[in-house]
Amino acid sequence: MTNNPLQKYFRKPSIYIKLPTGGKFNPEISTSQLDEIGVLPMTAIDEITLKNPDALLNGEALISLVASCCPDIPNPRGMCNIDVEALFLAIQYATYGSELTHTHTCKSCEEQSDFNIDINVILNRFPDIEKVEPVEFDGLKIHLQPPTVEAITRLALIDLEQQRIVRSIQDTYGDEVMKEDELARRFYSSFRTIAEHNVELLANTINYIETPDGDVTDYDTISEFLENIPTKVVNEINEKIQFLSKKPEDATTFEFSCPECETKDKVVLEVNPVNFFGTGS
Ligand SMILES: [Zn+2]
Repeated sequence: MTNNPLQKYFRKPSIYIKLPTGGKFNPEISTSQLDEIGVLPMTAIDEITLKNPDALLNGEALISLVASCCPDIPNPRGMCNIDVEALFLAIQYATYGSELTHTHTCKSCEEQSDFNIDINVILNRFPDIEKVEPVEFDGLKIHLQPPTVEAITRLALIDLEQQRIVRSIQDTYGDEVMKEDELARRFYSSFRTIAEHNVELLANTINYIETPDGDVTDYDTISEFLENIPTKVVNEINEKIQFLSKKPEDATTFEFSCPECETKDKVVLEVNPVNFFGTGS
C-alpha cells in the first residue's frame, strides 16, 4: 500500500502529548519520541471496535485503539495503565476536538443543562509519576513501577467474575437455610481468589528489591517474599500502587452550577471507553 497516491491524505498526528510516567517504565519507546507522543484521530474501524462490548471488557478494544492511533508506541499491551488512560483522552481530543459535553441533571430542580469540559484540564490534572519513591522495609528498598494496562484489565475481569460468583451463591441459597459455615466457606474461597490475584498484581508492580547483598528481580522470589511479610508492608505497597494505577478521582471531578436555581453539585465523571463520559457511581 506504500505506493498509494492518496497516502499523503492519510491521517496524521493532530496532537502530541507527554505521558504521565514520561515513558520511564517502557524502554521500548524511542527516547526521541518520549517528550511528544503523536496521536492520530480514530478511523471508522476504531470507532466500531469501541462499540464492541466484549472487546471493551477484556481490554482488547483499548489496546487496539492505542495501536492504531499512537504509532510511536511499539507495544501498547505493556504500557502503564495510567499512560493509556491519558492516551485515551488524547485520542478523543484528536478525533472530536478538545471539548467534551456533559449533560448534567440538577439534583434539586431536575433541570438538564449541557456543560463543556476541556480535555486539557483533565490531562493537566494527571499526576507526574516519572519517579517513584521506593517503599522501605527492614533495610530493604522496594522499587515499584506502575501496573500495566494488561494487569489492571485482568484484575478487573477477575473482580467481575468473583462478584458474579458471590451473587449466584446469594441467589441460589438466599431463601434456603444454609449452614452458616458453608456460606462462609464459599465466600471465603471467592475472596481468597481476589486476594491471591492481588498478590500477583503486586508482584508484577515490583520492579526490583534493593538488598544489602544486591538487587532481587526474579518474579517468583518476589512473590514468595510478598506472601511472607507483615500485612502492614503489603498495605503500604498497595496504597502506593493505587496511586500509580489510575488517574486520580480529582482529575475528573467538576462542580456544576445549575443555571435555573443555582444549586451547586460536585460530580465525578467517569471517563473510560465503556462509558465514555458518564457519571461515576
Ligand atoms: Zn436546578
